[in-house]
Amino acid sequence: MYDYDLLVVGSANADLVIGVERRPGAGETVLGSDLAVHPGGKGANQAVAAARLGARTALLARVGEDGHGRLLLDSQAESGVDTAGVLVGGAPTGVALITVDPSGDNSIVVSPGANARLTPADVRAAEGLLHASRVVSAQLEIPLETVVEVVRNLPEDTRFVLNPSPPRALPPEVLAACDPLIVNEHEARVVAGGAGLGGTPEEWARALLALGPRSVVVTLGAAGAVVAEGTGAPVRVPSVKVEAVDTTGAGDAFTAALAWRLGAGESLARAAAYAARVGAAAVTRAGAQVSFPTAREVAAL
Ligand code: ATP
Repeated sequence: MYDYDLLVVGSANADLVIGVERRPGAGETVLGSDLAVHPGGKGANQAVAAARLGARTALLARVGEDGHGRLLLDSQAESGVDTAGVLVGGAPTGVALITVDPSGDNSIVVSPGANARLTPADVRAAEGLLHASRVVSAQLEIPLETVVEVVRNLPEDTRFVLNPSPPRALPPEVLAACDPLIVNEHEARVVAGGAGLGGTPEEWARALLALGPRSVVVTLGAAGAVVAEGTGAPVRVPSVKVEAVDTTGAGDAFTAALAWRLGAGESLARAAAYAARVGAAAVTRAGAQVSFPTAREVAAL
C-alpha cells in the first residue's frame, strides 16, 4: 500500500575533510593533507543507512545547483534512495568544513546553505511523498518550522520519528508527534531543558516521556539504549560488543534502522535491538555513509 518504508526529511551536506598536524589558532595558517570530500548531513546519512538495509527509502531535502549537490544526489541514488523529492537550487549545497588532528579531535564549521532553504512550502508541495510513506523521520539540521510543517501534514497512519540533532527545545506539537523521540545524553539534556533529568538513563527516558512524546529512545553508545513508552518501566537494550574504529554516523544508522523496523510492525524494544546491531556495525568501519552495513552484514555480526 505504501511506496516507501521510510521518508527522511532532512539535511544533505558535503563534508570537506582535511587532516592537520595541529588545528590553526586565530590568524594562523597551517598546511594539511589532501582534501577528502564525503557525502554527509544527517538526512542524507539516514536515507543511505535505511536503503542499505533494504528499506524502500525516499529523501526530501534541498541541495545547491553545484558539484556538491550532484555528489549527494549520486551517492543517494547509488544506495538505492529515491531522490525525486530532493530539491535543487536556491543556495549552495550545505557544507561541513572539518579539520582533524592526529589524535582524532576535530574542528567543524557548517554552512547550512540549501538546507536552511528547505521550507514549510516545500513540505506542503511534497504531500504525495508524505502520503506514500509508512514512516517519516527528521532531524534538526533543517529549519524547525519545516519540521513543524512535516508534523502538521503527517497522514494519520504515518509514524513520525525525530532525532533532535543539533538539539534545541521543541514545541509541544512536535514532541507530541514523536514515536519515538530518539536522543543521546546531550540531546536529552537540551530537549528536557528546565524539566531537568534524573540520575539514570531510565529516569531521563521517563522525564522525556512526561514532555509528551508517544515513546522515547535514549542511545548510550557502546552501552546500547533505553526505550520507554506508555506507563510501563523503561527497558534497557544492550548493543553488541565490537571493536570501535569510528563512531561517526552511528546515531544516524541507529535511527534509520529503528524507523524502518518500527514501520515493519516490530515492537519498540525489538526494533531498538536491531538498530543497536546496525549502530554497532557502523562503528566498526571508518566514515559515515560508507560505514553503514547491509542487512546481511548485520545478520553476520
Ligand atoms: P553519533 O552522534 O556519533 O552519530 P549518537 O551519540 O547519536 O552518535 P550513540 O549512542 O553513540 O549515538 O550510538 C547509537 C547506537 O549505536 C547506540 O545506541 C549503540 O547501539 C550503537 N553503538 C554506538 N557506539 C557503539 C560501540 N562503541 N559499540 C557498540 N555499539 C555502539
